[in-house]
Amino acid sequence: MNDSDDLLKILNNAGEATSPPPPPAPGIPKQWVPGWIRWPIRAIFLPFIVLDSAMKKVARKIIRPPFKKEGQCKRRGNCCYYILMKRSKRFMHFIDRFWNTQINGFYVRDPEPKQLDDKEVFVMGCRYLKKDGSCAHYHLRPVICREYPVIEHFGAPKILKGCGYKVSCKDKKYEVYYEEE
Ligand code: SF4
Repeated sequence: MNDSDDLLKILNNAGEATSPPPPPAPGIPKQWVPGWIRWPIRAIFLPFIVLDSAMKKVARKIIRPPFKKEGQCKRRGNCCYYILMKRSKRFMHFIDRFWNTQINGFYVRDPEPKQLDDKEVFVMGCRYLKKDGSCAHYHLRPVICREYPVIEHFGAPKILKGCGYKVSCKDKKYEVYYEEE
């Protein structure tokens, strides 16, 4: 089995799991950037994040993607347990990792990257997910959380199995994406 199958198996199993995944073996690592630095940074970025999300919504109204989102969140938390962070090159990887772990509050679930198509990704969890499946910092949540489920104009929708969302599409030429789900 290659890494890509490995990741698909993890996500597939998560879709059917009846209990949350265990935390990483050494425990959820502590953030070394103190809260009095983290939270003001997040608050400063919030208007840009909200504006970015609003502009994307407007763009989707003007040019509609072929897929329409249906269903609703079942609060299973898998989008917060299985956040996929692309492995960037050297310095950018350091910045991405710093931002996601120290500012966004994610933690690396498995130090070994997994293969996803032609990219390497790290599977991350989030320390702010509450036991009832809700977000402890909903209003300050990062862009990636606001954009899930990912339905773009091009390419297959990215929706985790069993999360409660699905897509519909009237255009027959996109049927293949249903099969690849
Ligand atoms: S910030 Fe909230 S929505 Fe985002 S991954 Fe963490 S718990 Fe989930």
